[in-house]
This record gives sequence, structure tokens and C-alpha cells, in this order.
Amino acid sequence: MDTAATYTLADLAAWSHPGVSLAVLGYPIKHSVSPAMHNAALAEMATREASFADWRYVRFEVPPEELPRALALLHEKRFLGVNLTLPHKMLAVAQIAAIDPAAQPVGAVNTLRWRADGWEGFNTDGYGLASGLREDLGVELAGADVILLGAGGAARGAAVECLQRGVRSLWIANRTRENLDALLAQLAPLAGGATLRGFVPAEASGVGLPAGAVVVNATSAGLKAGDPLPIDLAALSKPRAVYDMIYNPAETAFLAAARDRGLPAANGLSMLVHQGARALEIWTGGPVPVAAMAAAARAAMGR
Ligand code: NDP
Repeated sequence: MDTAATYTLADLAAWSHPGVSLAVLGYPIKHSVSPAMHNAALAEMATREASFADWRYVRFEVPPEELPRALALLHEKRFLGVNLTLPHKMLAVAQIAAIDPAAQPVGAVNTLRWRADGWEGFNTDGYGLASGLREDLGVELAGADVILLGAGGAARGAAVECLQRGVRSLWIANRTRENLDALLAQLAPLAGGATLRGFVPAEASGVGLPAGAVVVNATSAGLKAGDPLPIDLAALSKPRAVYDMIYNPAETAFLAAARDRGLPAANGLSMLVHQGARALEIWTGGPVPVAAMAAAARAAMGR
């Protein structure tokens, strides 16, 4: 088995690895840093506990129409765990045997664990975000005011995590009002005592945003050079910190704008690392070396 290779469904049909197999499925998947991150952790764990020496994590390029067949084959081949990335996280929900109650309102899973009757699904992205905010910016979501930019899949996971962790207020900004309204309607039953409001970015200065909020970019604006900023930071009462879920490029124009304003700012690499660490904990049932995963992710990004 070559942990640097990109495998396909055809390889899976002939799969045989005597040890424990783990995989990430995506489309595209070539540039995923997850294999480097997980195999670094497993190598370090094997120095302390020999049973991890034959654990391997590999990537499979699987188009969405092949997901059902891929999940069935991975189960048959006894893969212990699977990570899912774009475009599979929501599609997989209808194809698994059970879902962690915390992932149910997100409507998406990024981690699957083998069990006899099928896959058990989890979503570790929200945990990854909460851990990244704490590690990079010293932010605890409980009691915080959060301005969340975006209303797609990543924003939905982040919003559910914010509400489950008891933020004081959650303000969601999105370019397309229709998508914003749909997300707000899904979130309303989870709000509890939190203030939950939405707005389009152009209206930011008129909606009564709190000062000292934590701003989280969960839009894809910034992935490509020349993308517009997801919001004008000048329209917000001085935020406490800015987190951009995008980690490639390492510094988006939005993060650069935050740093120019003297605001504490961080990119999404810590989220990626912590969602992966949580997934590995789910599969191994014990603690995992997060620092080794972070170092491997940084090295893979720099390659
Ligand atoms: P989706 O396609 O589901 O959602 C995209 C969101 O971005 C929508 O809200 C969309 O708004 C908004 N958007 C897209 N282009 C623009 C633009 N030019 N200006 C303003 N808003 C825009 O994507 P995901 O939710 O899956 O991913 C969002 C981001 O989060 C990606 O950059 C992804 O890389 C990152 N991510 C990072 C993770 C990590 O571990 N660090 C994990 C998961 C995601 P509209 O409704 O108007 O179309």
C-alpha cells in the first residue's frame, strides 16, 4: 500500500491490507493533506504501542455517483474508518446505518466508523472549529458573540456548533438572502436562549451588530485570487478576532485586512488538524498526537 497514492474504486475491488485500513474519500482528493496528517500520527503512536504499526490511511478519488458502491466495498473490506470531504458529506447521511445525535442537525458527516450493520457517522468539523478558535485565538464559543459569514455546508456545521456550545448571539451574513433564510429556518429550533439573526453583508452597519464579536469566514470567497472580501471589516464594530476557515492560500485578502486593522487573526489549518484528530480519536478510542498531525499538515501544505 502506498500512502502517497491516489486510489480509485477499481483499486478497492482488489484491496488487501493485512493491517487496519483508514481512508478519505473526495472528488477531487489529490491535494488532501489528511493522509500525511493521519499517517504521521499513526507512526508516532506506533513508537509507543506496537499494534498501530500496521495502521495505514489512504486517499480514494470517488465521484458522488460512486459513493454508495465505495461505502459498501469499504465496509466489506473492513476499513475501520473513513473521512468524507467535498462533495460527499451530505450525500453520505442517507447511506449510513446510524448517526451521532450531535451530527443530526448538521445534516452532514465527515467521519464514519465501521460497525457490523453498516457505518456509524459523526461530524468532527464543529469540534475542529471550536478547538482551532481556542488554540489560535483564545476564543471559547460559550457566551461569545459570533458573526458567521456564509450559509453553505461549512457555515451550517459551524452554526450548529456555536448554538450547541451556547454562544450568546449568532449573526449570520450571506450574499444570497434565500440561502441565508433557509439556514436560519433550520437553525431556529436549536437557538435556545441565544440571539440568532441574519443579514446580507452590504447591510452590516445597520443591523445592530455587537462590538467585540468573533468573526468566522465560512464562505469560499478567498479561495481564488481576485475573489471579493466576504464582508467589509470596517462595517463591523471592532471585532475581537477573525478566523478564516480557508487555509490554502494561507493568508486570504480577508485575513490580511484583519491583520492590517490590528485584529488577532488565524486561518483554518487548526480546524483541519483538530477535526482530523477527533476522527482519529473516534477510531482508536484513545488520545492522539495532535502536535505531530499539525506539523505534518504544515509540511504537506508547504510541499
Ligand atoms: P459551499 O459551497 O457549501 O458554500 C459556499 C458559501 O460561500 C456560500 O455561503 C456562498 O454564498 C459563499 N460564497 C461563495 N462565493 C462567494 C463570493 N464570491 N462572495 C461571497 N460569498 C461567497 O462551501 P462549504 O461551505 O463547503 O465551504 C466553505 C469554505 O469553508 C471553503 O472555503 C472551504 O475550503 C472551507 N472549509 C474549511 C474547512 C477546514 O477544515 N478548515 C472544513 C470545511 C470547509 P451564496 O449562498 O451566496 O452562494
